Amino acid sequence: MGNVIKSLKDIGSFMKLPGANLFVTKTEDLFNWASKSSLWPLSFGLACCAIEMMATFSSRFDLDRMGMITRASPRQADLMIVAGTVTVKMGERIKTLYDQMTGPKWVIAAGSCAISGDHYRHIYSVVPGVDWIIPVDVYVPGCPPTPEAFIDGIMELQNIISKGKTNPTFNVSQEALHKESCNSAPLVEPKVKKQKILFQDNFINIEDIYEVSKKLKTEGYDFLNFITATDFDNNLVLTYMFTNYNTNHTSEVNVRLNPDKKISSISDIYIGAEWQEREVFDMFGIKFTNHPRLERILMPEDWVGYPLLKDYKMEQPSLPYRPSREEYESWKTKL
Ligand code: SF4
Repeated sequence: MGNVIKSLKDIGSFMKLPGANLFVTKTEDLFNWASKSSLWPLSFGLACCAIEMMATFSSRFDLDRMGMITRASPRQADLMIVAGTVTVKMGERIKTLYDQMTGPKWVIAAGSCAISGDHYRHIYSVVPGVDWIIPVDVYVPGCPPTPEAFIDGIMELQNIISKGKTNPTFNVSQEALHKESCNSAPLVEPKVKKQKILFQDNFINIEDIYEVSKKLKTEGYDFLNFITATDFDNNLVLTYMFTNYNTNHTSEVNVRLNPDKKISSISDIYIGAEWQEREVFDMFGIKFTNHPRLERILMPEDWVGYPLLKDYKMEQPSLPYRPSREEYESWKTKL
């Protein structure tokens, strides 16, 4: 009660009358005070930052003392804390949840993924900042932000609410978006130590991949680091990396694919190849024969095309989940 009286003194004054106290303030200030003192966040999280957010809500930091109680329904929530990476798939759902929240409502973008997409901002499946789709009131930097940073962001939001701000705005301008798209960071070439050249130019014939993988396994290369592909203008090259942890040697194996894009699966030799081949299939359309379950793994089942092929059209309107920039823009106007 003492704290309540103390914070009420910020928005008005108490007058002593015989037999009672009288509190005088403006209704607008009183409503803002009530809003800022009873923020009800929507209960959801997107990635690692959400773990830090959960810690902030738990007993050590205890956001209940700030009047914050998470709600499982957007209809009872007036604060959305976007904690984690916003994927395109989740983007639409976040927008829907935001629309379903009661107003006035506020948004905190917590962590560099929610703020800008962070390490993933140039990836086809990640929204480069949640303010592309919903307005943000407070940005809390960090990867992830600490609970103290979360609390700082919440207190900053309380300040904003006290000043009577009820109409959040988008914080990203078209100029900023354009500048960003022109400033793509260059990719860093990975450096491999102790690489052993087992084949000339590291290339083998396509029909030899199964036997070569078997041979490498028996020679102690018991770890398959990755399988990936490169599209040299529809001339696809598949790259395998194997490691022998006893000798600390890695070996790269490349294969040029034929136009039918078929190659034998090695998933019965290296169990980890199972999902890596699925990923390569999903991104490049390469078909691994004898694979136990060659289905899409990252994209939805009904996705059209293979996103890492050079002729893949980024802005196809028929794609089920990949919105164009114009669509992102139109989501904003749906507010
Ligand atoms: S900002 Fe860092 S901690 Fe937060 S979701 Fe992104 S990668 Fe995870």
